[in-house]
Amino acid sequence: HRSVLSEIEVLQSIYLDELSVNQRDEGGWTVSLVLYPSTAEDCLSQFVRLTLTVDLDSQYPYSSPCISIHNPRGLSDDKLLSLQRSLQIEAESCIGTPVLYQLIERAKEILTESNIPHGNCVICLYGFKEGEVFTKTSCYHYFHSHCLGRYITHSEMELKDRERELEEDKTRDRTEEEDLAVVCPVCREPLTYDLDALLSSPAPVFTQQEDAVIGGEFKKKWAALQKILEQQKEKGGVIDPEAESNRFLIHINEVNPTWIFKKCILFGSVVEHCVSSAKDRGFDSQGT
Ligand SMILES: [Zn+2]
Ligand SMILES: [Zn+2]
Repeated sequence: HRSVLSEIEVLQSIYLDELSVNQRDEGGWTVSLVLYPSTAEDCLSQFVRLTLTVDLDSQYPYSSPCISIHNPRGLSDDKLLSLQRSLQIEAESCIGTPVLYQLIERAKEILTESNIPHGNCVICLYGFKEGEVFTKTSCYHYFHSHCLGRYITHSEMELKDRERELEEDKTRDRTEEEDLAVVCPVCREPLTYDLDALLSSPAPVFTQQEDAVIGGEFKKKWAALQKILEQQKEKGGVIDPEAESNRFLIHINEVNPTWIFKKCILFGSVVEHCVSSAKDRGFDSQGT
């Protein structure tokens, strides 16, 4: 009895008011505590939590405590079950010695490992899953590390192009330099990053089911649009804007002089023919 009391006193000195202790009428104790992942007091990056309750009967520590989990947040049923099981096994392997502190810290450790943000990665649009590697930016946005690495690679290439453009543009006033930095895809804050580390992170794994749902929807739409495109082609409703704009263009450096000579003679009638055929196709005389 004394040993239980002194163990609880030690816990109270560590967890202070967070720990709730009740002595049950039929003998024994109930110790309960809300647990968060250890994220150095950074509440914004705590995505999971649970209340751990440990019931001790009057035989404790010579009997195994009964462990239960309440009010979980952000944890799957599978995760909760495996957490509860592994704590119970740990408790049973320590019969005869005080185990409460060990159980609480173990639960915290597992919570910290399972601390995964809600929502989707805005780069690949898939949700975050356990075991995936993700990154929190200084602006508190979350991405798969690999996705962010690919985004940054692309942004850096664009920035280099932009830099080259500015370099070549001698008329530009060099005092009004643009801020060339890779920015967060969500909020446009400049990013600080270690690109090699991001790119070497494993890419997120997309489950077959998710792929199948998107693939099926997409294929259906694609087939429908393809049918419409064919119909429009048949009716002459599809116009290639580049080919159209070059239709009446004469490339002087590409053709031989005799051809130009013939073309010049024919020019009047060619223009007339083009205008009338454009009218047939529903264009006005400006060719718009
Ligand atoms: Zn992603
Ligand atoms: Zn951001």
